[in-house]
Amino acid sequence: MSGAVRVVVVGGGYAGVMAADRLSGERAGHPRVRVTLVDPGARFTERIRLHQVAAGTRASAGVAWEEVLHPDVERVQDRVVGIDAAARAVVTGRGRRLGYDHLVYAVGSGEAPTTASSVTNATAAAATREEIAALAPGGTVTVVGAGATGVEVACALAVARADLEVTLVTASSPTTPLRRPAVARRLGRLGIGVEVGVVHPVTGAVSTAGGRRAAASATIWTAGLAVPRLAAASGLPTTGDGRLLVDATLTVRGDERIVAAGDAAAVDDPGAAHLRMSCATAIPLGAHAADVVLARLSGASAPRVDVGFLLQCLDLGGGHGHAQLVRPDDGDRWGARAGLGGHLGGAVKERVCAATLSWLTREARRPGSHRWPRGPRPVEGRGGDGARGLLG
Ligand SMILES: Cc1cc2nc3c(=O)[nH]c(=O)nc-3n(C[C@H](O)[C@H](O)[C@H](O)COP(=O)(O)OP(=O)(O)OC[C@H]3O[C@@H](n4cnc5c(N)ncnc54)[C@H](O)[C@@H]3O)c2cc1C
Repeated sequence: MSGAVRVVVVGGGYAGVMAADRLSGERAGHPRVRVTLVDPGARFTERIRLHQVAAGTRASAGVAWEEVLHPDVERVQDRVVGIDAAARAVVTGRGRRLGYDHLVYAVGSGEAPTTASSVTNATAAAATREEIAALAPGGTVTVVGAGATGVEVACALAVARADLEVTLVTASSPTTPLRRPAVARRLGRLGIGVEVGVVHPVTGAVSTAGGRRAAASATIWTAGLAVPRLAAASGLPTTGDGRLLVDATLTVRGDERIVAAGDAAAVDDPGAAHLRMSCATAIPLGAHAADVVLARLSGASAPRVDVGFLLQCLDLGGGHGHAQLVRPDDGDRWGARAGLGGHLGGAVKERVCAATLSWLTREARRPGSHRWPRGPRPVEGRGGDGARGLLG
């Protein structure tokens, strides 16, 4: 493929894989693209399943790369340790230097400011599973954070190990999932305690209005996850928490050779203010980042991102779940009581999780095949220009 345009995708999560697939294959009107995906994993990780791995109800969240990647994508199993934007090259941990014409930055999230256990990546989830399996009946577990991941972890554990005492500790109450009556009822039925308090990131000690107590038998951190510092360390513009700052075309200001997508991207545009770190955001942003590169290669103007939500779903353990219809801006549609709970909610959640993987596998076979719902507000230039949105 000599003479092809070189695109390096850094990070093979939902955003990076979607971008790599969409850039691959032959497409009329576009120059041939040679895509290299750099990721340290031996397999693709379905991160949204990792609470099940930690609870021991699922053996693994790994998927063979061949299933999710277009056959033309060259995979480098390594970690990028530096981006030399001036020279248009990345350097990997094993000392490889990969030149690029365009770079897709998609390193995701997961680094937590704690020594506690977590479910943030495959290795951490496997270690947490071992820790939980070793707990004697009557053991206590603190799950730090009552956002979606915290609630899913607590429910998975309470179902898998009914002999443990599971408590969710949240710094602010009520969080979005806890505001939903059906979710609160499910937590109650599973005997999961909910406390407002602060957990010490090293000792695991819990401070609440009622006082301070020693760490539980196990502490699982799901709050305040940070992103890798790669962009900041490479001198690229970032937010305070290290996300790469991009404009509405997902492009770094002043360097149109670098686009970003997923948890590690911060889109500095009012039209993207509703976007939260999620798989639901990462997949369409990955597709959009690829579309921006393809537009530039064909001499067209880069499309602005236009992404809206449709559903928020939770896995509440044991086949139970909760599915809430939301507006494109992620606000509840018809109020917090309008969600679907129980086994029906669980079935919807499972369908959505399966869909995230099938979007990637289908994109690997037929690049460019997906479109998602659009964003919450009118976007300049919308209409047939590649602008799009997503399923949440
Ligand atoms: C237990 C759990 C449940 C979740 N459930 C949901 C859910 O139900 N719905 C939802 O929308 N979201 C959910 N999420 C959040 C979701 O998983 C993330 O938002 C999503 O994975 C972000 O996708 P991404 O592609 O940006 O990054 P990731 O999926 O994190 O992938 C990033 C990849 O980049 C790699 N990488 C990192 N640094 C480097 C480097 N320097 N060089 C090369 N590669 C690198 C990583 O190893 C990783 O493979 C959940 C998360 C967890 C942990």
